Amino acid sequence: MKILILNAGSSSQKSCLYEFNSKLPDRPPHPLWEAQIDWTRQQGIAALHVKTRQGATLNQEIATTSRKEMTMTLLKTLWAGDTQVIPEPAALDVVGHRVVHGGQEYQHSTIVTPAVKAAIARLATLAPAHNPANLEGIEAIEHILGPQIPQVAVFDTAFHSQLPLAAALYPGPYEWFEQGMRRYGFHGISHQYCAERAAQILGRDLRTLRLINCHLGNGCSLAAIREGHSIDTTMGFTPLEGLMMGTRSGSIDPGLLIHLLRQEGYTVDRLDQTLNKGSGLLGISGQSGDLRQIQTAIAAGDARAQLALDLYIHRLRSSIGAMLASLGGLDAMIFTAGVGENSSLVRAAACEAFGFLGWKLDSEKNEQRLIDQDLATPNSSIRILVIHTQEDWAIARECQKLLSQQL
Ligand code: ADP
Repeated sequence: MKILILNAGSSSQKSCLYEFNSKLPDRPPHPLWEAQIDWTRQQGIAALHVKTRQGATLNQEIATTSRKEMTMTLLKTLWAGDTQVIPEPAALDVVGHRVVHGGQEYQHSTIVTPAVKAAIARLATLAPAHNPANLEGIEAIEHILGPQIPQVAVFDTAFHSQLPLAAALYPGPYEWFEQGMRRYGFHGISHQYCAERAAQILGRDLRTLRLINCHLGNGCSLAAIREGHSIDTTMGFTPLEGLMMGTRSGSIDPGLLIHLLRQEGYTVDRLDQTLNKGSGLLGISGQSGDLRQIQTAIAAGDARAQLALDLYIHRLRSSIGAMLASLGGLDAMIFTAGVGENSSLVRAAACEAFGFLGWKLDSEKNEQRLIDQDLATPNSSIRILVIHTQEDWAIARECQKLLSQQL
């Protein structure tokens, strides 16, 4: 079976092709082909990078801002040129898409139909940077491959669809909730994958576990997971709520926003730009939203970089405390994504605050760049796992599951 995955971000498009026999392997196979478009390097320029399992690569810079055009260019490298891995588009069995917002309607992955496309378009008002990109990916595939190849939408909000109402509502007027203005939560594909992988690593039934998954990348969120369901999470109506992130502020006093609009002459667009692109690690340090650069600046004695890291850790610890209270106990903490998987400093600082509860990180293991391992000491009161998140593989599994249900 050949499954193509499209994962569209606000300024990137990642894609990969998995191939396996009819039985789903336990662990992700190495993709046959991987491709990425990056719009962040230079204004108006799309950088395309393709590599195959056989070692062929392609690097191109194309002057375009059209996502559709670039998606087409990216897809063609599957069956043409040095990076060819399939004879023709029809060799694909299914295409899976990460769709950021599924609203209240989509609590599970679904085969794409005209109604699903209309819903993704409608929900673009809730995820303006992502849902339109997801839809363009779906339409590009339809344009090239025709309607006969099934497409699957896997929603980043779905894993949180069972949030108890007390965690899902904002304490504004009840009408907000009736109008869909509620907490949805994001990073669900990653949170779910990591929870399942944690159960595998621990040799436990997921339904018996209480977990906190720390997805710390450019975007950051926590999920409190009980019996395999998300019961609390830090992101809300949008991916702006919660933890301090690379360039996003996370939660701040809403009164401050009123002040900025009323007293400081902010426009809505400036507010949006400031909170999403000019805050977080970047906003405080004035240097970068990338933790590696923050650490380099700290090593050079930069006080604002140190302050940025201190704030990041302070907010991470307090949100872990909130998740812990929602769960009422804990079996394992999980660290994942760019920061969670790579920063021993962040893991150690987060866990240190809970030393009084008996959380004990093995400091040697923590430094060893381990993946999918338990980093806790044998006498720690909880397990502390580092897991490499595999969102694309999780989407591939959903595709396989949905297709086999259809047969
Ligand atoms: P995204 O949310 O865009 O998928 P990633 O999960 O790839 O992002 O995380 C990106 C972030 O991971 C970078 O901005 C960087 O701060 C952090 N990161 C990556 N490698 C390291 C490292 N070795 N040490 C500290 N932070 C790292």
